[in-house]
Amino acid sequence: MFVGHFALGLAGKRVAPSLSLGTLLLAASFLDLLWPTFLLLGLEEVQVAPGITAVTPLDFVSYPYSHSLAAAAGWAAVFGGVVWLWRSRVDASLLLVGLVLSHWLLDFASHRPDLPLDLGGPTRVGLGLWYSLPATLAVELLLFAAGAVIYGRTTVAEDRIGRYGLWGLVVFLLAAYLAAVLGPPPPNAEMLGWGGQSVWLLVLWGFWVDRHRRPVRD
Ligand SMILES: [Zn+2]
Repeated sequence: MFVGHFALGLAGKRVAPSLSLGTLLLAASFLDLLWPTFLLLGLEEVQVAPGITAVTPLDFVSYPYSHSLAAAAGWAAVFGGVVWLWRSRVDASLLLVGLVLSHWLLDFASHRPDLPLDLGGPTRVGLGLWYSLPATLAVELLLFAAGAVIYGRTTVAEDRIGRYGLWGLVVFLLAAYLAAVLGPPPPNAEMLGWGGQSVWLLVLWGFWVDRHRRPVRD
């Protein structure tokens, strides 16, 4: 899943308005931010196999450190722990723990059975939403629309950057998502490792937009 993760990050603003959208997107996408670096380091492996699902041509051969359930739980605890030490806010920390874990659950719904449960075991799980392109688009775009509306209603723009920066982020995410789903497969795994780093820019975009918007309740 891609924009579905961003949807939950956007919606998280309603639960914890004190957190920046950047922090929320960082948590919701955290496993996908680790993955390309682990690929480049040779710790995890992916192959391009067009047709393996209707949505993604990627065969996730091995990704226990970024995408096993055990690793997701560990990263969620680290993420929540760091924010708790830094901000001393239990509610915000718990939301971020939930967002990191939500990534695994959304991937569990989308992926074919390729998600490991632990670091070394043979079990692989996944409900396979990606076997259907129309179902994937319906679920993910509805989630994304709901998340964008919730964030837009929870906050108000303080200036033009706050207004148009948010629109830009939403449109860019949609365009990138449709290009990834409907466009040609990536040439190789190394390109995925470098291209995947661009998600960090989306997180920075979230921090930037959020600095120019404030919670409606203030
Ligand atoms: Zn993922």
